[in-house]
Amino acid sequence: MTIKKLPPQLANQIAAGEVVERPASVVKELVENALDAGASKVEIDIERGGHKRILIRDNGKGIGKEQLTLALSRHATSKISNIDDLEAIMSLGFRGEALASISSVSRLTMTSKPAGQNEAWSAIAEGLAMDVDIKPAAHPDGTSVDVVDLFFNTPARRKFLRAEKTEFNHIETLIKRIALSRPDVSFILKHNQKVVRKYRAHSAELGLVEQKSKRISEVISSNFIDSASVFTSQYDQVNIAVWIKSPELCGSVNPAQYSFVNGRMMRDKLIQHAIRQSYGQLLHPEQLPEYVIFIELPANEVDVNVHPAKHEVRFHHARLLHDLIVKTIKDALAVFQIPTQVANQD
Ligand code: ADP
Ligand code: MG
Repeated sequence: MTIKKLPPQLANQIAAGEVVERPASVVKELVENALDAGASKVEIDIERGGHKRILIRDNGKGIGKEQLTLALSRHATSKISNIDDLEAIMSLGFRGEALASISSVSRLTMTSKPAGQNEAWSAIAEGLAMDVDIKPAAHPDGTSVDVVDLFFNTPARRKFLRAEKTEFNHIETLIKRIALSRPDVSFILKHNQKVVRKYRAHSAELGLVEQKSKRISEVISSNFIDSASVFTSQYDQVNIAVWIKSPELCGSVNPAQYSFVNGRMMRDKLIQHAIRQSYGQLLHPEQLPEYVIFIELPANEVDVNVHPAKHEVRFHHARLLHDLIVKTIKDALAVFQIPTQVANQD
């Protein structure tokens, strides 16, 4: 065997395997890009579970003609420029890989008009064809990314696509999570031309608890808000806001469990453990906790560069944070007038 350098497009497809598992992963990357671009409105149009088409429109800051091709190439990002930036990431993206990966496994058109410019341009990339075509287009301020025929050139991947309904369910779950993290942004999710979810933006002037409560009520249910206790805490530069359901009302199926760290949705063991511990004996083993928790901490206190899809993070002061979460949730649970001995038990 001789060692050969892989052609860039093949390298992209291999990398795509990590980032683009299914239609929902495409939606995640594109909506995160829209939010990083400062959009206050994001529209997600899905056809046939995303198998056929994923179209994301935003009213963010846009990309100029001269940067469109670059945006589609691998390791190209406007979000970090040196290793120090990696220590304190404020944006959702930073790897500069999503657009390159997605365009290597689909037919992708990105159309954009930066505010204040007169012209909109489209960049068109089709799977293995390396060249990006640039054409004039019509578009309002902001960006649209249109992803058609996902995995058309990677049959092995395509085989793993599930039924349209299943893939769309993944997308809907994802949009609910993202919508929870950004009550200040409006989201519209359509499937086969029908509006499935519509969230209007809530102003920050309402105050954090009110603003987030409104969105939680829309995304999860007003019932959840009515049966939950909310508590916020601050320690040093760590802010926690938690909505936690009354233990008496927690069931054993489909629990609402949402955690966010610096606006990023997480499936984090530390947080899950802290939550279970806070409930202590208040829950029977078959009951599942229901909660929404937002943790904000300085960007350099957490490492998000652990997992390509960024589902996991590493906290630099994990123990401290764990204890802080437990304390906050116990304070929240105290509202349900639980005898103190029980509430204090670990
Ligand atoms: P990353 O998000 O990690 O930087 P991407 O491949 O997702 O990498 O995007 C590459 C670059 O393209 C981004 O850094 C950004 O500058 C630009 N970009 C992508 N999507 C948008 C968008 N919706 N609006 C404005 N700029 C965008
Ligand atoms: Mg990105």
